[in-house]
Amino acid sequence: MAIRDIVKDGDPILRKKCRPVEVFDEKLGKLLDDMRETMNKADGVGLAGPQVGILRQVVVIEVGDFYVELINPEILETSGEQIGVEGCLSVEGKNCYVARPNFVKVKYCDRYGKQMLLECEGLPARAVFHETDHLQGVLFYDKEYKGKVNRKKL
Ligand code: ZN
Repeated sequence: MAIRDIVKDGDPILRKKCRPVEVFDEKLGKLLDDMRETMNKADGVGLAGPQVGILRQVVVIEVGDFYVELINPEILETSGEQIGVEGCLSVEGKNCYVARPNFVKVKYCDRYGKQMLLECEGLPARAVFHETDHLQGVLFYDKEYKGKVNRKKL
């Protein structure tokens, strides 16, 4: 495994749309291992392909004991709402509130190309939305929530 450089905001690669992964090979496995290590070293909870300069639909998410690799993710269902603070390993020194659905059901492939389904809510769901946005060239502050926030509810 190896630590990769994290692409920083201002680099146009973060604004490009990613193509699906077509080949599930050792190179993909190595990329995912590197992404996980890079995310852990940077103390993040998620990392998407463009953040390491790869314009492919690959995401790693790790929230506590929950770890998942999403390849070619497709959101099937969402429900509810959560308003919380987000930041990004590519965007230094900026955090803001973002409203996201509380629940997500997502179809994806694992690193071997097997079709999988994931349902989650709360923080892992927030990470799914944040990271899948990266695959579309969208950054969290594009969606800054400007309404009133009741801090007790967070
Ligand atoms: Zn991010």
